[in-house]
Amino acid sequence: MSDLKVAIAGAGGRMGGANIRAIAATPGLAVFSAFDRSGPAIGRDAGELAGVDALGVAITDNVDAALTGAEAIIDFTAPANSVALAKEAARRGLIHIIGTTGCIEADDAAITDAAANGARIVKAGNFSLGVNVLLGLVKQAAAALPGFDIEILEMHHNKKVDAPSGTALMLGEAAARGRNLDLKTHSVRVRDGHTGPREAGSIGFATLRGGNVVGEHKVILAGPSERIELNHIADNRALFAEGAVRAALWARDQRPGLYSMADVLGFNS
Ligand code: NAD
Repeated sequence: MSDLKVAIAGAGGRMGGANIRAIAATPGLAVFSAFDRSGPAIGRDAGELAGVDALGVAITDNVDAALTGAEAIIDFTAPANSVALAKEAARRGLIHIIGTTGCIEADDAAITDAAANGARIVKAGNFSLGVNVLLGLVKQAAAALPGFDIEILEMHHNKKVDAPSGTALMLGEAAARGRNLDLKTHSVRVRDGHTGPREAGSIGFATLRGGNVVGEHKVILAGPSERIELNHIADNRALFAEGAVRAALWARDQRPGLYSMADVLGFNS
């Protein structure tokens, strides 16, 4: 089979660079095009900017040119852009790997709609194998310890623009599923001032931002006289890119639809 032709969205960004490096290191895919919004990355060679050999692919701000002839988009950018690209993926019958976090309900509805109309979409708030294993452990622990308070703590670098992180929200969803709760009506995102005592059954979130932290998550299950802490630490962005590349190759054999990293890893079969 010929190499999967991948268009890299947000090619000038941190994850854009990591995705280009991951493709350069993985057989079966090739960087077909690379695009971003206007800025200093436009016109640069995608490989050189990502720190690998020159690829002969100049980063463009012309989305139509970047997508024409591509088979897949790997997209870690921003919600409005990911929604627009999902519509393009549906129109053109493309694979669309979405790592963007911070989507609101309307964004997710538009992405679901694109998947129902011809796009093969894999969307995950976290593409790491470890986090996807952790999701299963959190669901199991939340179900097994019904009286324990659940708190989710996350820390990321000082450039991150959304909070709580997509991963923290996925961990909250996993805990809520373990308890048959709706996360939306049971989460506490912020505490400030005279909050009163903790509401039983709620799932709390706390967000830290600073330095160059790639991503750290801790799920605490606190009982009356003991506490469990489940931790995940991402050392390097490469692990997210490796997961995204794996998802793109997996999606090649799938029908149009909306998939998660659990589907890619076979956790749902
Ligand atoms: P970044 O700021 O370094 O890169 C984002 C890139 O997207 C930039 O090049 C920017 O120009 C481009 N972009 C932003 N808005 C755009 C728009 N409207 N149109 C076109 N291009 C646009 O950020 P990053 O650290 O690479 O993270 C990007 C996204 O990926 C964030 O949402 C982050 O939370 C998410 N992320 C997800 C995972 C995961 O495993 N799912 C892992 C790491 C980061």
